[in-house]
Amino acid sequence: MTPAGGQPVNWSQWSVILLKPDCVERRLTTVILDWIGQVVLVSAVRTVRVTEAQIFAHYADLFPKAAEIGVDIAAGLRRIYAGRDAVIALGHSPHAPARLRALIGPTDPAAAGADTIRGRYGIDTLAAGRAEGRLIDNLIHTSDDPDAARRDFALWFGPGQAGLLKPLPPEEETTMTHVPARHGEPEPAQFGTGPARLQLMPAGQKAALDPYMAQIVTYRKSGLSLNHIIGCPLDCGYCVRHFWGDFEHKTPHLLVPTPEAVEMLTGHEAFRASTTPIQLLNKATDPFLPGVKPHLFQVLRALDERGLDNLVLIITRFTVTAADMLELERLQHVRVTLLFTFSGITDPRVEPIAKSAITTRSIATACARKNRTKVVLYWRPIVPGWNDDPATMSGVLAAGRAADAIVFTGYYHKEQNAGYLRSLGVEVPYGQDYNRRKVLPEELDARVIAAWRASGISTPLFRKTSCGVSAAHQVADYNGHWGVRELCDICPAAQIGRCHAGHRQPAPGEMDTVLADLGYATDYLIDGGHVWTHSLGEQKRYAIQHTLGFQIWELDQPHLLHAHGRSLTGYEPTEQEQQELTAIRTRFTHAARFDEDD
Ligand code: SF4
Repeated sequence: MTPAGGQPVNWSQWSVILLKPDCVERRLTTVILDWIGQVVLVSAVRTVRVTEAQIFAHYADLFPKAAEIGVDIAAGLRRIYAGRDAVIALGHSPHAPARLRALIGPTDPAAAGADTIRGRYGIDTLAAGRAEGRLIDNLIHTSDDPDAARRDFALWFGPGQAGLLKPLPPEEETTMTHVPARHGEPEPAQFGTGPARLQLMPAGQKAALDPYMAQIVTYRKSGLSLNHIIGCPLDCGYCVRHFWGDFEHKTPHLLVPTPEAVEMLTGHEAFRASTTPIQLLNKATDPFLPGVKPHLFQVLRALDERGLDNLVLIITRFTVTAADMLELERLQHVRVTLLFTFSGITDPRVEPIAKSAITTRSIATACARKNRTKVVLYWRPIVPGWNDDPATMSGVLAAGRAADAIVFTGYYHKEQNAGYLRSLGVEVPYGQDYNRRKVLPEELDARVIAAWRASGISTPLFRKTSCGVSAAHQVADYNGHWGVRELCDICPAAQIGRCHAGHRQPAPGEMDTVLADLGYATDYLIDGGHVWTHSLGEQKRYAIQHTLGFQIWELDQPHLLHAHGRSLTGYEPTEQEQQELTAIRTRFTHAARFDEDD
C-alpha cells in the first residue's frame, strides 16, 4: 500500500488504535487519547459501529485458542463489540507500535502498572473473566507490530484511505512531536519537543555549564527551585537562558536522576515542610515537554507521598492535557499552581509557540478540570510595541477569564537576550538601559490595569507571582508584600483581609532565631514593612523572607515607591525618596545588631 502519490508506507511508524466499546461507554475516549497524544501523533479519529464480520476478522487468531482460553470466542466477541460503538484512530511516530504497546500495558489490567492506560483505567481482570468464562473488557487495542499495523489499517480504514498515511516530517524522525490533531481542532504548528525519554547529561557538557545553571536547587523569589533538567527546544526569544549562555541547549538532559533531585530539594538547608514554596523546573526547560513531564510527575508524587503540603509552582506554556489534570488532581497534599506563560506576542521570532493554539488550549483544558489544582495566567513579558496594544491586551485577559488569577510583569532587558533578538531583526525597546530587574514602566502598569478594569472579567489581577499564587490558594502572600502597600490597590477585599491578618513584623529575637536556624549571619535593621540586611545574597534573603512571611531587603538594592521589584526604567525617584534612602544607610551603619524598630 502506498499513500497517494507517495513512497511505500513505513509501517514501523504506524499503529491503529481501537478504543473499545467499554472505553467509549465509560466516557474515557478523550482522556485516553490525551495519554496517547503524549507518545505519538494522533490523527484520523472516528467513531465506528462495529460489525460481527469486522471483529471476527480482527481477532481471527483467537479462534484456534478457544479451548486453551476456555471461552466461547464468537459469543464473547459478539457480546463486547457487535453493533456497539468504538473509536478508531491512527498513531504515528518512530516505533509507534512498540511505544503504544508499552503505554497501554499488558492484556490483564490487574497485571498492568499504574503508569499504563490499562493499569490506570482498567476495572476488569483476567481472573474474573476466566472464572466467568468470558473475554475481558480492557479498554483499548493498538497494533502489536508493523505487520499488525498493516493488517489493522486494511481492516479498519481500508486501502481507499491510504492518503491518511503521510510520512513523518524529517525532524519528527529524531524528536518526538506529540501535539495531536483531534476533535476537529486545527493542526497546530509543529515543534521539536525533545526526546520522549531523557538521558543524563554527558560529563563534558555538564562540566562546561555556567555555575548558576549547574546549581540544581536554588532559592528564588517565588520559592525554592528544583532544576535538575536542562535544555529546551521551544526557542522563546526572551528566554532567561540567554543570561547563562545556555540557550543553545535544545535537548533536555537530566543532571542527576529524579529521586536524587528530590532528596536534594527536601534536604536543602532552607527547606521547611509546609512553609517553603517550591518551584519545579522553571529555570532551563519546560516541565510539560514530553520527556520532562514524567519527571515532573515523579517529583510531585514523591513530595505528595511524604505528606508535604507546601505550595508548588509549575510554569509552562506547553501542552497540558486532561490526563495531566487528572494526575494533578489525584495529589492529596501538595498545593499545586499551574502558571501558564501567555504574552499575546505573535512575532514568531519572539514567541515561536504563538503560531499555535497550544497555550490557550492548555489554559482552557486546565481551567475546565481544575479543582484543588489552581491555575494562573502568567501575562509576561509585557513590552511596548510587542503586545501592549488594546486588542492584544484584551485577548490575553479573555484567555484568563476562567483562571484563578492573572499575574502580569515586564521584560528582563539584559544585553544577552536583547542582542539575540536584535540579531533576528526584532525592535527591542529601552535602548542600552540594561538592568538586573524586569522593566515595566509606570505608565504601562497603569494601562494594564485600565485594560483589566475595562475587560469586565472577574479574574483578580496581581503584580506579583506570589500574590497570585497565594490568593488562588486563599492564604496570605508568602512574600509579605502587604508590607509594600502600594502593590495592593488592585487586590480583592478577601485577599487583603488574609494578608492583613497574616502579616506580622518580626521582633529582633525572632529574626535572630531564624538566622541561627538557617545558619546565616547579617546585620539588620527592622523598618516599616521590611527588614534591611546587607550582603546576604539573594538566595538567603528569600529563604528568610518565606520563613517569616515578611519582606527582607538588601541595602545596596533598595526598592522604590511604585517600582517594587522592578527596574527604575520609567520611574523617577523623588527627592524625598533619595533623602530617605540616604537616611536609612546612615541608620543602618550606626545600628547595633539588636537595634529596636523606631
Ligand atoms: S493584599 Fe497585597 S500582598 Fe496580599 S496578595 Fe494582595 S497585593 Fe499581594
